[in-house]
Amino acid sequence: MPNGTRHLFIPGPTNVPDRVRRAMNVPMEDQRAPDFPSLTLPLFKDLKTAFRNEKGRVFMYPSSGTGAWEAAIQNTLARGDKVLMSRFGQFSHLWCEMAVRLGLDATIIDVEWGAGVPLEDYEKAIAADRDHEIRAVFVTHNETATGVTSDVEGVRKLLDAHSHPAMIFVDGVSSIASIDFRQDEWGVDLAVAGSQKGFMLPAGLSFLSVSEKALAASRDNRPKMDRCYFSFADMITNNDNGYFPYTPPTQFFHGLRTALDMLFEEGLENVFARHHRLAEGVRRGIAGMGLKLQAVAPQWHSDTVTAIRVPEGVDANAVLRIAYERYNTSFGSGLARLSGKVFRIGHLGDLNEVMCLSALASAEMALADAGARIELGSGVAAAQAYYRERHAAGAESR
Ligand code: PLP
Repeated sequence: MPNGTRHLFIPGPTNVPDRVRRAMNVPMEDQRAPDFPSLTLPLFKDLKTAFRNEKGRVFMYPSSGTGAWEAAIQNTLARGDKVLMSRFGQFSHLWCEMAVRLGLDATIIDVEWGAGVPLEDYEKAIAADRDHEIRAVFVTHNETATGVTSDVEGVRKLLDAHSHPAMIFVDGVSSIASIDFRQDEWGVDLAVAGSQKGFMLPAGLSFLSVSEKALAASRDNRPKMDRCYFSFADMITNNDNGYFPYTPPTQFFHGLRTALDMLFEEGLENVFARHHRLAEGVRRGIAGMGLKLQAVAPQWHSDTVTAIRVPEGVDANAVLRIAYERYNTSFGSGLARLSGKVFRIGHLGDLNEVMCLSALASAEMALADAGARIELGSGVAAAQAYYRERHAAGAESR
């Protein structure tokens, strides 16, 4: 094992704070005990705050985020239902695949990998759907493969403009609890998140935040897909009393308690502002090195992950390997068609400026070792300047 810290800059799982790790180090307990709900009921309530979902409810599934995707579809839609989707990176691609495999009639709009949800194309499809056959519109809020954030509120506005009743499904796996997200205000019906990103926990718990409208859709008389493990109805019967229809991962709940406490102690607005500041520093650093992002325009810049194009003739996979083997640093790889062309810096969860500077320093060395013409220190210096400037501005405004 190498000495010192192994630096984790993948966009999930993210660094689990010591406080959260310690909170999970508890003996096994009785998940049917009379006092168990005193642990779980406040978690449901506080998760709703994190999603900004006052009226609906949040489910916790012992699965990764993909399970919550499946739960969202199975509980509210039927085979053959029409849905509107877009694909612009590996995760939006996988969601489209799931929809097709589960038998939905998906209209999939392909967008270049580096842009996000195509509002104009969505608007055309919605405007053309006079009989309101489209039941759901899918939005990948943050495409982790390309470092692109999309405009969820824009989708709400266009549905409202056409008085279209479709539900909005949001993949917020790499955005929620890190980037501003407002379920009620944006009229989002189903929002998915995973424990291993902004919630600063290990992978293995997913969150599905559901609006009243989506809950009603899960109960109405239209036939739905078969479901069992992920059934909302089974969960609600048990969750209402603080229990689960199967053995829940109790240690996770202690970790989640502490993670939510930490998010609320910092304040969600401050958490979002920190992510923006850290991300902007990383972007300035990449620009300082003379490199380009996969995101094709600033409107798409993600505050949780940055996908960086390596220069022509350099293999991004070599950069990743060198960073890992020589400099104890894990970066995210280029996924699918971006393999070898891109590496990613995950900057979400429990991290600060100097951690981001170390990511940039490691990236500079690995890039240079892999043959890129990088002036060592150029990226770090640009980020340092930005972070100092932001702190000076913050100090002045106090
Ligand atoms: N959606 C996005 C945007 C993701 O980043 C990921 C995982 O990284 C997923 C979905 C899949 O989540 P999981 O791996 O937790 O199943």
